[in-house]
Amino acid sequence: MNEPVRDASALSCADDYDPNSMPVQKAREVIARFLSPVTATERIGVRAALGRVLAEDVISPLDVPAHDNSAMDGYAVRFADLKGDGEVTLKMTGTSFAGVPFKGSVKAGECVRIMTGGVVPAGADAIVMQEHVKVAKDQIAIGGGHKKGQNLRKAGEDLATGQVALKRGVALRPADVGLISSLGIGEVTVYRKLRVAFFSTGDELVSIGSQPKEGQIFDSNRYTIHGMLTRMGCEVLDMGVVRDDPALLEKAFSEAAGSADVVITSGGVSVGEADFVKDLLGKLGEVVFWKIAMKPGRPLAYGKIGGAHFFGLPGNPVSVMVTYYQFVRDALLKLSGLDPVPVVPTFKVPCTSALKKAPGRTEFQRGILSQDATGNWSVRVTGEQGSGILRSMSEANCFIILSTDQGNVAPGNLVDVQVLEGVI
Ligand code: AMP
Ligand code: MG
Repeated sequence: MNEPVRDASALSCADDYDPNSMPVQKAREVIARFLSPVTATERIGVRAALGRVLAEDVISPLDVPAHDNSAMDGYAVRFADLKGDGEVTLKMTGTSFAGVPFKGSVKAGECVRIMTGGVVPAGADAIVMQEHVKVAKDQIAIGGGHKKGQNLRKAGEDLATGQVALKRGVALRPADVGLISSLGIGEVTVYRKLRVAFFSTGDELVSIGSQPKEGQIFDSNRYTIHGMLTRMGCEVLDMGVVRDDPALLEKAFSEAAGSADVVITSGGVSVGEADFVKDLLGKLGEVVFWKIAMKPGRPLAYGKIGGAHFFGLPGNPVSVMVTYYQFVRDALLKLSGLDPVPVVPTFKVPCTSALKKAPGRTEFQRGILSQDATGNWSVRVTGEQGSGILRSMSEANCFIILSTDQGNVAPGNLVDVQVLEGVI
């Protein structure tokens, strides 16, 4: 399925870009070239399919709606019986309620009481709203100003039999599982879940439950990575903390690559540590080490270890999340079969904080988008932006993205933001 990279130069040279200053967009493009989505599929019930990626088009087996029906509570009439602007009185001969249609047809001079969703009886070609009639027993007086076909939903106007209701490659949302059920379809074919193995590297790390000795810290990256992967519906394989020891790392890399589609690590890719991990990965696969022209998240390793894709994220907790959202997320979505991978929108809002920014790299500052009393939106930074300050991510509800060429931002300037949470 996933072919190893045969030509390491394809990764490392990355056209004529400098691996010591790789633009964000360029790194994304290079990674995208090596991603081949999963192909294995499974059939699952429609409820369980929420969040899963469709592996086949869903074709409508019926017309939706199945019959011409009323969009309003009112009276089904023959349009030809109505007068352009005068009043006419029709005889009500029956009722058509949702689920209980009128059996006969509407003849000249007649009408049928109809409720929203009721099947439009034969002969009728317009619905007059109940608010627009005068009722005296079965005598219904209707004024002028109506149109043929009004308030009438045509059979198949939403979906016709044989039409594609949902395309292969979409991740199913609540509206989609509803749409599938509305077609009477109980099972769908989806791609299998992506298997992702991950571990933290670092002699200084201890896991929750252990007592950190002097100079040691609790591992947090494994928890954020676990959270981000779980949100995306991946099958996760948490391999714990691995010490900065070549033999242990080699074992962990081989095991992870042997059991997963994707391996994600944190730490060990910064200058100083990278060399020894580099040598190791040179033995096991084809991996490149980039210094991305971005802040935070400068060092990043990407490549293949056997058939598995490898992302070596930086160690700093904020850098982990930023590089995950800016590189790993899209790659995982593409590998999961999403086609196309939806673009996360950015939009411009005024920034109320003054921001320091050096041109030459893309910055992802952590922001708080909020609305003032008059309903206008603006963004401010979360405070200190150090790449070790995980609280800045925790408080943020958006990234403030400052492009390569951008310099300092003065209060009131427009900036690009990318919201962290979606509504569905
Ligand atoms: P490294 O890239 O391994 O040099 O790590 C950079 C910084 O991130 C160091 O201060 C590390 O202590 C810290 N760090 C690395 N891994 C983790 C982790 N899993 N959880 C929390 N902090 C980490
Ligand atoms: Mg380290």
